[in-house]
Amino acid sequence: MKRVTVKGIVQGVGFRPFVYRIAKEHGIKGYVKNAGNSVEIVVANEDCDFERFLRDLRSKSPPLAKIYSIDVEEVRKEEEYDDFYVLKSSVEGSGESILPPDVAICEECLREMFEKGRRYLYPFIVCMNCGPRFTIIEDLPYDRENTTMRDFPMCRLCEEEYNDPMDRRFRAEPTCCWDCGPRYFLYHGKEKLDLKPEEVIKESAKLLAEGEILAIKGIGGTHLATITTEDEPVLKIRKLRRRKNKPFAIMARDLQAIESFAFLSEVEKELLTSFRRPIVVLKKKGEVLSKYIAPNLHNIGVMLPYAGVHYLLFYYIEEPALVMTSANAPGEPMFIENEEIFTLKCYALVHNRRIKNRCDDSVIKVINGKPTFIRRSRGYVPEAIEVSVDNRENILALGAEEMVTACLLKGNKAFLSQHIGDTSKLKTLEFLEDAVYNLIRMNKVEGIDKIAVDLHPYFNTVKLGEKLASKFNCKLIRCQHHHAHIVSLMAEHNIKEKIVGIAIDGFGYGGDKTWWGGEVLLCDYGNYKRMGSLAYSPMPGGDLATRFPARATLGILSKIYSIEELKEIAKKHLINGFRNERELELVLMQIERGFNTPISTSLGRVLDAISALLNVCYERTYEGEPAMRLESFAFHGKAKLSFDMKIEKRERYTIDTAYLLKQVLEAKEEHDFKDIAASAQIAIANALAEVATMVAKKKKISTIGVSGGVAYNEAIVSAMRKKIEEEGLKFITHTKVPCGDGGISLGQALMAVFVAKK
Ligand SMILES: [Zn+2]
Ligand SMILES: [Zn+2]
Ligand SMILES: [Zn+2]
Repeated sequence: MKRVTVKGIVQGVGFRPFVYRIAKEHGIKGYVKNAGNSVEIVVANEDCDFERFLRDLRSKSPPLAKIYSIDVEEVRKEEEYDDFYVLKSSVEGSGESILPPDVAICEECLREMFEKGRRYLYPFIVCMNCGPRFTIIEDLPYDRENTTMRDFPMCRLCEEEYNDPMDRRFRAEPTCCWDCGPRYFLYHGKEKLDLKPEEVIKESAKLLAEGEILAIKGIGGTHLATITTEDEPVLKIRKLRRRKNKPFAIMARDLQAIESFAFLSEVEKELLTSFRRPIVVLKKKGEVLSKYIAPNLHNIGVMLPYAGVHYLLFYYIEEPALVMTSANAPGEPMFIENEEIFTLKCYALVHNRRIKNRCDDSVIKVINGKPTFIRRSRGYVPEAIEVSVDNRENILALGAEEMVTACLLKGNKAFLSQHIGDTSKLKTLEFLEDAVYNLIRMNKVEGIDKIAVDLHPYFNTVKLGEKLASKFNCKLIRCQHHHAHIVSLMAEHNIKEKIVGIAIDGFGYGGDKTWWGGEVLLCDYGNYKRMGSLAYSPMPGGDLATRFPARATLGILSKIYSIEELKEIAKKHLINGFRNERELELVLMQIERGFNTPISTSLGRVLDAISALLNVCYERTYEGEPAMRLESFAFHGKAKLSFDMKIEKRERYTIDTAYLLKQVLEAKEEHDFKDIAASAQIAIANALAEVATMVAKKKKISTIGVSGGVAYNEAIVSAMRKKIEEEGLKFITHTKVPCGDGGISLGQALMAVFVAKK
């Protein structure tokens, strides 16, 4: 008798019904069951075609399944089987990965939802091939009693389907219907509207059509929705959530609707329609939608419906798209409790199924034809990222401060948590801690060997790391921010040798108590050497220079101009840069005396400074705003000015950013501001690429990569790619984890592998 153990993403993907079918085809007797986080198959008879069964197991497995390994062992026969059975799960057994991510409603369920029958217009319709997974699971193995669907005992008809191996709902754990499953309810504030179940969504759609704001509890959290073709409702959401300019994501009816307001490439179409259904950042076209959805930007985040409730809303409403922005405050966890949602004091479409693991929508931008994560969450988590280092430990990494994800590295599989957010907020920090324990539980990890955190002394993630290190009695490893960015890139490309990494972002603690963010590093997993950077510039007011970029402009220019000259420049070129004369005087004094004025090499701050200098943006109202608006502004210009970039070689290569800003300032007299913006971006990209190339050639290194939040700027990354590839070197970018700080935990975990345990 043979026992076959299949590891991988094999639970919750229709794997057992698939095994059942091929076992029957090949005359196999025995059973299949979920065991811990693998699937166990016993083949009890000899008179069957076992080899062909194995081949089919490997090659014909269901679309959502991903097999990591199949082990066959000969075991002693203990029982006779007269047929092939699907048995109840057992808890023991340990395996590799576990669940697939949440899956968008499938074509078959969608069709059924609009056909007269017992699930007619029922928003929670699912089958083995679709529906929530990660967001509802409480424990392993993946059985109904271990999900939040245990609150809804199946009715007789659902149970019959669930037990019928030939049915597409066979062992579909979240299956339900109007009679036994969860329901939607419509509220206004705390007050429940008296509606028949089948009228709830219809009535909600009517409210939307009338221009109301509707909070919608969905799969992984809660969105705020409204129509997109008129300004007033969009402005109403901005007011309600105090979001001045932050771009809203939208959900479009279908691809055709998207083509009426955005450009679509084949790659983007494929992403949008995949079962993962991420938000894809597209380039805008025409003026179909309200300009207040993504103000001052050339692109817009769009997704397609992924849950029954979304399709039903579009069924009742004529809009091409709906605003679908998260209802929580930026950086905080998504709302999952109805009580929380009611505090919004708007109409609320809520359901009574608990969301166990909140999960934000994933966001992807296609850069040079390559999908790049801005946020890796719903539809991707909890899938593992395979790395090729030799690691036998369990390593936990906690990210930096903003856009945090946690990472559990177990052997050569890295499990990244869902998007957590800004951990300077206490709620978010608590969410991080929960998510960490969830990673540990779901991956059946006993004990943690090392914990990796940022080098920053005061980040909340570092404090949490210290607490967990004493709890698990393990070593705490502090990782330099930009080194971690580059290592995350090396890890996802399985790079073994050294590379030259360009790490560009807004903010990262250097090894020398200064702020870094425009770095050229020579890296392997365990070590790095700082070979080049942008020049240090004073940032008067510290964090205030991030919020009000005109401060950064004066800080950088102060390396060339006197205080008196700076004053003139501010008055002529930074008209709205300061609230009043007094603020300007204070900033100049800070620059002069170095008071409350840290120094920084951040490329984010340089782009912000150019943004202010060209009157594009004087205040950052959301993360990255001045630089994002500069990118959009430059998108409409031509890089036809050639700015001269001074690169000095002292202890390392230093790129003179003050000199660039001086040229930008002077160009304002004669040139189109859009052309200046485009040219300045390219000049700085080329300078960084040049430094990286010089280092690579000198050190005989063949690969250069770019990481960090500024790597979302398509113009900058394209220019780097062109220059580096022209030199005959290989250029790599992120495809599996975000370039920004959402990917940093992967880098930290890998760095920790190379640090001694004690
Ligand atoms: Zn389905
Ligand atoms: Zn039912
Ligand atoms: Zn960073």
